Amino acid sequence: MKSSEIHGFYKKTRSERISALKEFADLSEEQAKLLAKDSPLEFETADNMVENVVSTQQLPLGIATNFQLNGKDYLIPMAVEEPSVVAAASNAAKIARKSGGFTTESDEPVMIGQIVLLNVPDLEGAKKAIKEKEQGLIEKANTVDPVLVKFGGGARGIELRDSEGFLFVHLLVDVRDAMGANAVNTMSESIAPQLEELSKGQAKMRIITNLATHRKARAKAVFSKQAIEESFKGKDIGMTTDEIIDSIINVYKIAEADQFRATTHNKGIMNGIDAVAVACGQDWRAIEAGAHSFACISGKYKPLTKYSKDSDGNLVGEIELPIAVGLIGGAVKTNPTAGACLSILGVKTAQELAEAIAAVGLAQNFAAIREIATRGIQAGHMALHAKNIAVMAGAKGEQVDKIAEKMVEEKNIRVDRAKEILEEL
Ligand code: NAD
Repeated sequence: MKSSEIHGFYKKTRSERISALKEFADLSEEQAKLLAKDSPLEFETADNMVENVVSTQQLPLGIATNFQLNGKDYLIPMAVEEPSVVAAASNAAKIARKSGGFTTESDEPVMIGQIVLLNVPDLEGAKKAIKEKEQGLIEKANTVDPVLVKFGGGARGIELRDSEGFLFVHLLVDVRDAMGANAVNTMSESIAPQLEELSKGQAKMRIITNLATHRKARAKAVFSKQAIEESFKGKDIGMTTDEIIDSIINVYKIAEADQFRATTHNKGIMNGIDAVAVACGQDWRAIEAGAHSFACISGKYKPLTKYSKDSDGNLVGEIELPIAVGLIGGAVKTNPTAGACLSILGVKTAQELAEAIAAVGLAQNFAAIREIATRGIQAGHMALHAKNIAVMAGAKGEQVDKIAEKMVEEKNIRVDRAKEILEEL
């Protein structure tokens, strides 16, 4: 079995990293060559993706190592501009894999199309009339997407709810390996006229909701006492491992208690989730919108992860959120890098992709709160940030590491200092 625990991946050259990926993920020669190109997305392709194209915007594409989900190893592509995200995810996955990695699961890929009916004279009567015709409405919706039906998806049911005089019709659609927005929007539009007839109201909304409550992904991991202790080896932080675990749980409890903290807690989760979503050509705005809306579904904005201790005192982390992602449609097939990233991940279904993304969200969050609960976030972050500052000061090649190291040692990470050191080199 191939292992995602690639020692010293960060020390390898670019071509060595691509070779390791090629071997791990059985990438084609073409995909390996694509990754070695500095601008794999050609202008002609980009120009057909969006309007008024002048260029392509680049982001670093890093690979998080050490991930193991349900006993299978994964290398995780992450496109992100923020330093330390990829390293933190890899580090958390390394700690988790010592107790078996991540256990993940997910709901069937069911999205919700909303048809909102206005001016309905008799809400209860309309609900009854729609429920009686549910099967016919499902069949009608399925006629507009025979391809989806052929692949095992299609409309599954109708949920009804009213609020402030509006009648909300939720069309549940199994979108299989699609993110599903186009599919669901088309289906929702197809049944709107019949819903108007049945309710004697007017359909004003025929569109997917990004609060995909039927399409949640979950991940869980045990961060063992021993693995946490080893991860701090050689660093004097003045805390016992039990104290570290209690402190992490307190950081989580603060997020439970306070929306200001919970927002930043969830931002840390999205650092990982968005980075994988961007790398894999997903609609990350849809994931973001769904995640934050789900975070406050109870009426109070909450953290998307939970932490507790098991009977042996190990830390247990869990995450649950809606993740609407696809392997077909959207930019997945048009952006060649997205295709290569999905090959690197090796996911076979949209559900498997959603689970991998959930695991990265949990890993990213654990890494962040592990720092916050001990040395403070800046200790790890600034070391990597120092490299950026060195580049900003004009450093090149080996100068970058030399300047970054010196600034970290001096605990003085500033562009003016970087410039001074550069002059001294
Ligand atoms: P799509 O319409 O491009 O592809 C989905 C279609 O592919 C299905 O309807 C089906 O006909 C076909 N298909 C073939 N094989 C399939 C399989 N194995 N499983 C499922 N379907 C299969 O894409 P989409 O996923 O419907 O829409 C995604 C796009 O919609 C994204 O680019 C997103 O940005 C955009 N979008 C989002 C929103 C929103 O989130 N609110 C709104 C509008 C558009």
